[in-house]
Amino acid sequence: MSQTHLPLNLKNLETIINLKTIPNLETIPIKNMLGDRMLYRKMPNIKEKLSILGFGCMRLPLLKKGGLDEKRAMAQIRHAIDNGVNYIDTAWPYHAGKSEPLVGKALEDGYREKTHIATKLPSWMVKNREHMDFFLSEQLRLLKTEQIDFYLIHNLAGPMWESLKKMNVLDFIDKAKQTGKIKYAGFSFHGRVDDFKKIVDDYPWEFCQIQYNFLDEFHQAGTEGLEYAAKKNLGIIIMEPLRGGNLGLPVPPIEVNNIWKKAEHHRTPAEWALRWIWDHPQVSVILSGMNEERHIEENLNIANNVLPASLTSKELDLVKQAAHTYKQLMKVGCTGCEYCLPCPVGVNIPSAFEVLNKYHMFKNMEEAKFMYAMRCGGIFSGLGDGYASLCIQCGECLEKCPQGIPIPDVLEEVVKEFEDDKVKERLIMGKKMLNME
Ligand code: SF4
Ligand code: SF4
Repeated sequence: MSQTHLPLNLKNLETIINLKTIPNLETIPIKNMLGDRMLYRKMPNIKEKLSILGFGCMRLPLLKKGGLDEKRAMAQIRHAIDNGVNYIDTAWPYHAGKSEPLVGKALEDGYREKTHIATKLPSWMVKNREHMDFFLSEQLRLLKTEQIDFYLIHNLAGPMWESLKKMNVLDFIDKAKQTGKIKYAGFSFHGRVDDFKKIVDDYPWEFCQIQYNFLDEFHQAGTEGLEYAAKKNLGIIIMEPLRGGNLGLPVPPIEVNNIWKKAEHHRTPAEWALRWIWDHPQVSVILSGMNEERHIEENLNIANNVLPASLTSKELDLVKQAAHTYKQLMKVGCTGCEYCLPCPVGVNIPSAFEVLNKYHMFKNMEEAKFMYAMRCGGIFSGLGDGYASLCIQCGECLEKCPQGIPIPDVLEEVVKEFEDDKVKERLIMGKKMLNME
């Protein structure tokens, strides 16, 4: 695989010096120059140094006959730790509940002491305060540890957070910290930026986890949320750096490939996407859901030489052009603002459009149909079916949309593309995968 290593040149050394003026941020490039394969950053209110690459355990390798390839997954996790990764991220629903026990096993034989564990409260499954204690004690058991280093409230958006607060989630976090069951508290987020800011302000979190990549600068928390959280001294973990792997496809759409070809240094699409994120000094760790040895190697190689603010203005411009081109390939100019909601019959308009755009950018119909069934089937919102075919063409949403999108017409396209007789089947499969059945 072709891999370009950015030399630690003068520009980077200047960056190192400048970094000292950025509060709470520390990289260890000197150690890296002596041969280590990893760089580390520090979150503002946390003393531990975290590897800039984290191992996300949501897409571990599978056996051909189905099920987790435990032996290979454990070897991959341990290999990453041996090469400096010290942040392992898992969650209750990953691999239908099999990820956490696998991580517990992988961290035996002395590996637990070398790394930090992050896992999450499955917020959509919580029905009351006692449930929260139940999940946490089960997770401690499954992970074979007495303390979760980084504990997150999983997949928050505005309404979910409000409902958890009514169930006393703040008391749960306080008690879990006081009793030492969790060390640091954070949340992961997939909603609107104003809700994100509110959640940031609602608790003295140590960190948060957001979806961020060069296509999502103005989507979900986006750059505005990233900067807001950093100003409030939260460490920031990044998920979906490659937008579900799509930005890292070895062969991107030809229009995008032509842009990368203009660059002075040859880099893979994944490298461009990761470097752009690490260029932000506010970012602590990027999570990568790795399941192939060559991807792990590629990511380790990139992570050993990426400093903040190290992309040149020319390179940043190329990334901007690539983002612009991807967006032109999108079918509908939806920003996910949710102003069109609620729809009187419950259509989940932003999610339907997000899937439509994803399909038109990356042309993976199988993935798009599955995602559509999950997102519009109400799994995460808990609001029930929100499929496009429910639309009764009342037109109520039209005047609310700041982008002037002819919503009912575009929903008809969504129905044609993604609604076949297997929608429910996909939803059931998704629920099984999330351990919700
Ligand atoms: S036109 Fe369709 S999507 Fe828009 S509010 Fe009415 S029913 Fe909902
Ligand atoms: S109001 Fe328009 S831009 Fe905003 S989520 Fe709805 S369709 Fe998308």
